[in-house]
Amino acid sequence: GETDCTSHASARKFSTSGSSPLLDSTEGNGFKGHSMLAPFTAGWHSTDLEPLIIERSEGSYVYDSKGNKYLDTLAGLWCTALGGSEPRLVKAATDQLNKLPFYHSFWNSTAKPPLDLAEELISMFTAKEMGKVLFTNSGSEANDSQVKLVWYYNNALGRPNKKKIIAQSQAYHGSTLISASLSGLPAMHLKFDLPAPFVLHTDCPHYWRFGLPGEAEEEFATRLADNLENLILKEGPETVAAFIAEPVIGAGGVIPPPKTYFEKIQAVLQKYDVLFIADEVITGFGRLGTMFGSDLYNIKPDLVSLAKALSSAYVPIGATLVSPEISDVVHSQSNKIGFFAHGFTYSGHPVSCAVALEALKIYRERNIPAHVKQISPRFQEGIKAFAGSSIIGETRGVGLLLATEFANNKSPNDPFPVEWGVAQIFGAECKKRGMLVKVVGDEIAMSPPLIMSQREVDGLVSIYGEALKATEERVA
Ligand code: PLP
Repeated sequence: GETDCTSHASARKFSTSGSSPLLDSTEGNGFKGHSMLAPFTAGWHSTDLEPLIIERSEGSYVYDSKGNKYLDTLAGLWCTALGGSEPRLVKAATDQLNKLPFYHSFWNSTAKPPLDLAEELISMFTAKEMGKVLFTNSGSEANDSQVKLVWYYNNALGRPNKKKIIAQSQAYHGSTLISASLSGLPAMHLKFDLPAPFVLHTDCPHYWRFGLPGEAEEEFATRLADNLENLILKEGPETVAAFIAEPVIGAGGVIPPPKTYFEKIQAVLQKYDVLFIADEVITGFGRLGTMFGSDLYNIKPDLVSLAKALSSAYVPIGATLVSPEISDVVHSQSNKIGFFAHGFTYSGHPVSCAVALEALKIYRERNIPAHVKQISPRFQEGIKAFAGSSIIGETRGVGLLLATEFANNKSPNDPFPVEWGVAQIFGAECKKRGMLVKVVGDEIAMSPPLIMSQREVDGLVSIYGEALKATEERVA
């Protein structure tokens, strides 16, 4: 059958003859739920869709419990950069497990792998000189640690009021109390009593959505930098400690910055002595065709958060890189107090560090950023060739990072009715054809393994095209 559309999409008919992930009831399908309180999942008790259970991975592909093979275009959660079967990472883990599965890094003792990894990370990050590395287990912990470092630093400098952190609306920085506060996504705050009061949010740098009629991209960037300056002045520069941003907003919808954005933002931050925290959890290690996002956008951060591709996700590990200026102050402050009272049992876990060291070696040896630079035009241009579709609002991305937002009339202000589930239908059509994409709201996102071959990229583009055609037929 067909339903008449509502005011939002007045020229459209929506065909309900096929299945729709949002329209179909899954109640009574026999699935009784599982015992896991599943992250970012709704209705896990008994009425949710049967979960996709992935059992095995090979290169850029994963296999589910029923034996279906899928191209994993999100690389797990934007993280399995070297794909799902890199033997060198497995060997690095097992060698380390056999030699020394664990020792801690507290009280001036440690193991060799964290020392080597810290040195390697400092030599790899060249956008700005870094002084020290603090290890964590995740990106969320890395961002939490950034805030504690910034506070500790400003307390040491006798600036106890300089504590507020400014983040962007629509950013994703993690799920712990502080990192969820930094995130600019309403669902991360709603019903969690967040954000914490010391976190302020400034504009999302999404030109297509927030650019004014007739406003050039550079003018948009100027306006956002002016807004940031006004926010700092309103709060009082003596109360604002740091600004945090992803070089490209990832989980919040893959939003590359408008031209000149970071140049103008950094000028404002310098003027008011506000630190820059670059959250490179997704953009680190080649994702954008440069080793770090800071290289691509000429960001000179004081602090950098890393995770995900740091170990190609084979084991949990995160890190914060700290500039020499900050680490020197933290060092002398902790001497005064007695010690630096922060860290985790698994900060610098030997197995995680050994795997990360091997991953970094592979990124260098195979020149993964250059490979991404070489294949990403095929990926970006291939997908953007479909951007003229009447059901696509915008396709945006850089390197091996991309999102398509579905909308009516090419307009950010004209979404399809939620109950049509247009992006969900697209996702289901991809899945039918052996490809997994991330689906959230009106958007789909891809962040494939960095080891994709040109042929695999071509296959991805072709499935995308077929799935789009099938989706268009539903939304005629
Ligand atoms: N920062 C960014 C940019 C992320 O994309 C993520 C996770 O998606 C995080 C931080 C949080 O990392 P984790 O999930 O490892 O805590």
